[in-house]
Amino acid sequence: MAELPGARVELELLADDLRERIGELAERLTPGADLGMLFPREPSVVDRHEPPGFRYTVMARGRRPGGLGAPALVAHAADLLGRLDWDVTDREGDAEDAKAGTDAEAGTDGRAALSGGTGHRHVLTARHPDGSVIEVRVDAGGPTVLYIGRTPVVALYEPEEFRWPEPVRTPGTVTPGHLLCYECDGLGACACCGGRGWLPDEPHGRSRCPECATRRVCPICRGAGQLPVSLLSPYQRTMYPELDG
Ligand SMILES: [Zn+2]
Ligand SMILES: [Zn+2]
Repeated sequence: MAELPGARVELELLADDLRERIGELAERLTPGADLGMLFPREPSVVDRHEPPGFRYTVMARGRRPGGLGAPALVAHAADLLGRLDWDVTDREGDAEDAKAGTDAEAGTDGRAALSGGTGHRHVLTARHPDGSVIEVRVDAGGPTVLYIGRTPVVALYEPEEFRWPEPVRTPGTVTPGHLLCYECDGLGACACCGGRGWLPDEPHGRSRCPECATRRVCPICRGAGQLPVSLLSPYQRTMYPELDG
């Protein structure tokens, strides 16, 4: 894969900005916060269309100081981010509070309980003009405060055009005592996906190949493109009518 010039540097800079912002925010709001998760080694692939899109997700975890309520902490976070060009687009809290005590919030709506809490929480979402997003999740019933930052999705590599592979065996190169694989006809690679291990699919761009299940090679000959006649099963022999002719 050919790197797109400058793309990785751009993504690293976006991640650095995000780390700095979340580090500051966490230190201000929840002194002594655990910042260890701010430094993932690699960005993750979040869009598998061609070219694939990468993003960093960075996190910090803090404890809400005693005496400071969850709504107050969220308001403070909104204020700090708002002053730094972040657009606080979404604040949830009252709605989630209203559900407290019912079983509606017990992990069924994707906004599951933070560990150690009662289940309901206050969530603040802020967006930066550079495309980064910060989410502050404050557990209303426990001390956990989670800061999650996501960079925008960036393509790091030139789009790659897929080329169907050349067969590993042909009628002219098959080893004596062997026959071309009846499944892939000598291709060796998985004949369903062409050796990619995946097929183009929506919405994420790819789905696992149902034929080889990401192993990339033909499931019958395991990549050899040919099968030894002496080891053919009775069923496999039926694929070669010429053997019993
Ligand atoms: Zn095969
Ligand atoms: Zn396959």
